[in-house]
Amino acid sequence: LATYLGANEDPAELAGHGCIPASLAREIAGGPDTVLRRIITDPLSGQVLDLGRDRYRPTAGVGEFVRVRDRECRRPGCHRPAQACDLDHVVPWQFGGHTNADELIDLCRRDHRLKDEPGWVYSLAPDGTLTVTTPTGQSYDSSPPPLHEPRVATEPPPF
Ligand SMILES: [Zn+2]
Repeated sequence: LATYLGANEDPAELAGHGCIPASLAREIAGGPDTVLRRIITDPLSGQVLDLGRDRYRPTAGVGEFVRVRDRECRRPGCHRPAQACDLDHVVPWQFGGHTNADELIDLCRRDHRLKDEPGWVYSLAPDGTLTVTTPTGQSYDSSPPPLHEPRVATEPPPF
């Protein structure tokens, strides 16, 4: 917001691209087809909590939330942008999985296919940590990258 308002020259992050200069970010944000959206983050962890939308269509809203939260393929070590990924049920739909943000993750097509091979186990913890267990029994964790650095909690004012 401070960059958008011209209060600083901090670089912005363009989803699927990386950091861009503040001047270019302001030019894109001010474009005629640009839609600005409020994103609520946890001030301590930087994790996305809500997109703050006035209009809510469950399927599109949930998918958009997961893409903004995950930002890239969730397989540990894979960095393909979420915009190029599939939304995948951690617990497969046919085995009781639900279509909500707590049970959906972004996986690139290659890792989506790998997940469906025999012997791979994926589990998603309530805090968003994904644990992938390989057919040989090794486990790897990944968490969605925070949108900003954790901020230090401040003491409330004395009065
Ligand atoms: Zn991937």
